[in-house]
Amino acid sequence: MMKNNKVLLIYTGGTIGMVKDESGALQPFAMERIYDALPLLHRTEYQIDSCQLDKIIDSSNMTPEFWEDIAEIIERNYEAYDGFVVLHGTDTMAYTASALSFMFKNLTKPIVLTGSQLPLGMLRSDGRENIICALEIASGRQFLVPEVTIFFESHLYRGNRSTKVSAENFDAFSSFNYPSLAKAGIKITSKPHLFMPMPTGELKVRKKFDRRVAILKLFPGITPGVVESMVSIPDLQGLIIETFGSGNAPTEAWFIEALGRAMERGVIVLNVTQCKAGAVQMRQYQASCDMDRIGVIGGHDITIEAAVTKMMYLLGNFPGDKEKVRDRLARNLRGELSMEMNKNNDE
Ligand code: ASP
Repeated sequence: MMKNNKVLLIYTGGTIGMVKDESGALQPFAMERIYDALPLLHRTEYQIDSCQLDKIIDSSNMTPEFWEDIAEIIERNYEAYDGFVVLHGTDTMAYTASALSFMFKNLTKPIVLTGSQLPLGMLRSDGRENIICALEIASGRQFLVPEVTIFFESHLYRGNRSTKVSAENFDAFSSFNYPSLAKAGIKITSKPHLFMPMPTGELKVRKKFDRRVAILKLFPGITPGVVESMVSIPDLQGLIIETFGSGNAPTEAWFIEALGRAMERGVIVLNVTQCKAGAVQMRQYQASCDMDRIGVIGGHDITIEAAVTKMMYLLGNFPGDKEKVRDRLARNLRGELSMEMNKNNDE
């Protein structure tokens, strides 16, 4: 059979390809075994080639260096394939999907991440369905989703809107602030009006990340010592505060003063809500007015995964331009925020 469409399957590790070691703990194994577990892959109507990272990992070990490796594989093979599937552990899949979405500007081909809650080799594995649907979508034979997505348990989600919500259920991911892009039943039905617009500019792949960032999660009773030790981390460049509700934080002087001192040292501070759904709205309550006054940036409805990867991406690629980093954090670059896309094309 002549196969016109081509998909590159990139294996990075995760439960989908794991086996139990002697102690009974799950650990990753090599790519060829995926074909043993899923011989059907040889019979698809599109061509599948595969490769794997030099080091196969549990995604808890994910770092920006692995994001760079994944991006390099895709960039090197971009012209030769219609789409890409990245097999990835579920634990940090939403971070990798977010990171890749920022790295690939003007993407015109699908990059679909998937994995599973049970290893492919197990009878009840959810991996089979996930991998076959992800490949089908990435092949572009039915519809073209020109963005980084996650396919999991019947749903296709925008990658930088996704969050892992269950360590147990097969529907492990959700996208609270943006609808799913497609659903797999008897047919895979898409909602093309929800896809990212097809870009007109050239593909640009930026691979730098600045890891000098931190996330400060607030809780009632947090002490000045905890906040102080976070904001005074030497060399800190970016701080995300996970606030309450629509972006609220304690109004006590010590809190605002600590943030203010960090900002005077040049630390960029972003306000992201702990709520899974909804958005930060600075100045809706008095409890966010002081942060707004001193220049904390409102994260709107961004996920924490997208926020931290976007901050690392912007700091890494525009190191000398703090104003630009601040400006782009507040704008929608890749569909990660529910607001008009950034028209300023120089990011
Ligand atoms: N610990 C695994 C990982 O993220 C979990 C999974 O793949 O579901 O690599």
